[in-house]
Amino acid sequence: MSPLVTALRWHTKKIARGATALFSMLSGLLWVKARRKTPHVRVLMYHRFRDTPRDPFSVRPEEFASQMRWLAQHQLAISPDDFVAFLDGNRALPSGSVLVSIDDGFLDFLSEAVPIMKRYGIPGICFIPVADVGDSEHVSWAELAALAASGIEVGSHSYNHVSLGHLAEIEVADQLRRSRTELEQRLKHPVRMFAYPYGTRADHNSSTRNALRKVGYTLGFVTQHGAVAPDCDRFTIPRIKVEGGESMWMFRLLVRGGLDAWSVFDRIFWRLQATP
Ligand SMILES: [Zn+2]
Repeated sequence: MSPLVTALRWHTKKIARGATALFSMLSGLLWVKARRKTPHVRVLMYHRFRDTPRDPFSVRPEEFASQMRWLAQHQLAISPDDFVAFLDGNRALPSGSVLVSIDDGFLDFLSEAVPIMKRYGIPGICFIPVADVGDSEHVSWAELAALAASGIEVGSHSYNHVSLGHLAEIEVADQLRRSRTELEQRLKHPVRMFAYPYGTRADHNSSTRNALRKVGYTLGFVTQHGAVAPDCDRFTIPRIKVEGGESMWMFRLLVRGGLDAWSVFDRIFWRLQATP
């Protein structure tokens, strides 16, 4: 893509995200959301932690540190266990609580994000494409095994990061089963959560949801935006993408639901959404 198109796309999306958040705030939508009878929580989604200008998938480590500090100060970060208990109706959580999730297991997750999460006591879940573990760009098995001590659970992100929406049923089952089995054998703990690679509407469907259930996962995460309530579909749990190059103002709004309405864009423009 030409630099001009990249720049144009970057700025257009930033304006659209800012406008969505601002509209949600000014229209009173966030006020209403915060006062719902059943509190909702959200799952934040991150990928890379590095200073790469105009890459929406990369958040600068300093930005991430400010975000985690703010979550810690407001006691909004919940653990995967809290999240499951909330879905089961066994735990009431304050409105605005968030589960931090990180996809792909790149080395900068380990070198930049994990120390920051440890410093502020932020638990979370990382989703790992199993075939990538231990290559020159990704975390090793030993490093993954050590994450439990930091309160970071490991979930599957398929075997080799393919879109399940385009695979035959037998291949979907293979991606789900092989990744889960290998993670469980290597890490010696049950793997219950799965995040769809790419996670757009093209990457999951009713048969992938059935396959997840059959293979034994209890939760499946997508990349459409939205809040999570106990009655949600457990195999299409929405996540809010945290993008690089945005202010703390934007982060605070998206934690409170300022980008839930982005699901409209997910619905209409998913073909245009860039995927790493
Ligand atoms: Zn991914």
